[in-house]
Amino acid sequence: MKFLVASALVLVGSCSTLRHSERIDNLKESISYEDKSTVEQYLSTINADQLKTYVEEVSSDKYEGRMTGEEGHNQVCDYIRNYYKSLNIKAPESHPDYYQKVPKEALPEDINDSQNVIAYIEGSEFPDEYIYITAHSDHEGTVDGEIYSGADDNGSGTAAVFEMAEAFKMASNDGNGPKRSLVFLHVTAEEVGLHGSRYYTNNPIFPIENTISTLNIDMIGRVDERHQDNENYIYVIGADRISTELHFIIQEANSKFINLNLDYKYNEDSDPNRYFYRSDHYNFAVKDIPVVFFFNGEHEDYTKPTDTADKINYQLLEKRTKLIFATTWYLANSPVQLKREII
Ligand SMILES: [Zn+2]
Repeated sequence: MKFLVASALVLVGSCSTLRHSERIDNLKESISYEDKSTVEQYLSTINADQLKTYVEEVSSDKYEGRMTGEEGHNQVCDYIRNYYKSLNIKAPESHPDYYQKVPKEALPEDINDSQNVIAYIEGSEFPDEYIYITAHSDHEGTVDGEIYSGADDNGSGTAAVFEMAEAFKMASNDGNGPKRSLVFLHVTAEEVGLHGSRYYTNNPIFPIENTISTLNIDMIGRVDERHQDNENYIYVIGADRISTELHFIIQEANSKFINLNLDYKYNEDSDPNRYFYRSDHYNFAVKDIPVVFFFNGEHEDYTKPTDTADKINYQLLEKRTKLIFATTWYLANSPVQLKREII
C-alpha cells in the first residue's frame, strides 16, 4: 500500500513537471523575430557618442544635481521635452506641453511642485495598447556646496530612452513604426521615494488597463564590483514576476542581437537588497503590469558627487540600450499581445 501510494505520487510529480517544461519550450519556440534585418537597421543607429552627449548634458553642473522641484531639475525637464520637440515626437493630446504636473501634495514635505515628462509614438495597428519606457529625471541635488552629478543615476537611463526614441522615430518615418504605442516617460521624484511614478500610475494619461508592459532603466552605464573581470553584463530584475513570456522575450532579444550576460542575482525574491521594490517599475507592477528593471548594480560612486560622466562606460551603455531596444521592438510589433501569465 505504501509502495503504491509512493509510485502514484512520483507519477503525478513527473507528469506535471513534464507538462511545465513542455509549456516553457512551447513558449520559447513561439518567440521569434521575423524582421531581424529591420531590427538590426535601427539598432545600428544607437551609438555611444550620442549617448555620451546626452549623459554629459544631463549631468552637467548647470542643472545643479537635479533635485526634484528645484530650478535645476525644472531646467533639465525643459531640456528633455525640447529633445522630443526637436525630433517631432508628439506630446499626449491631453498634455500638449509634455508635462504632467505632480503637485506638492503628492510629494514629501518641503518639496516643490514638479513634473513628469511624457512623449509618445502612436502605434500603427494597435494604438490603444501602450508600452512604457521609463527613466527618472531627478537626482540628489547640491549638498554642502557639492553637486551630485548623477551621470549613471540616472543620466544613463535618460540617454538610453533618448536614443531609443530617436531610433523608433526613424523607423516610424521609414514606414516601420511600432504597431503598439510607445510612451517615453521621464518621471520625477524617484530619489525622494518613487513619487513621480506613483503619481503617474494613479493618474495615468493613457488607460492603465491597456498597458502591455513597462521597461524601466535606472543606472546602466557602469560596472559593479561583482563584474570587474567581465563587464559584459546587465542585471535583469522582475521580468518573470507577472509575465513568464517577458522573461523569455528578453533572452531571445539578447541571444539574437546582443550577447550580454543576463544576471538574475537580484531577481531572487530573497535578495536582501530588494531592488525590485526600489525603482519606478515597482509602481507599475503594483497595478499588475508586466515590468522589467534594467540595472548595473551599485558601484563606488553610487549616490556620491563623484558619479560623473567621465566614468561612464559608453560602449557598454550602447550595448545595454540595444538590448532594451530589441526587447521593446518585439513587444511593440509582435502580432500577439504579451501574455500576462506565469507558467
Ligand atoms: Zn536612480
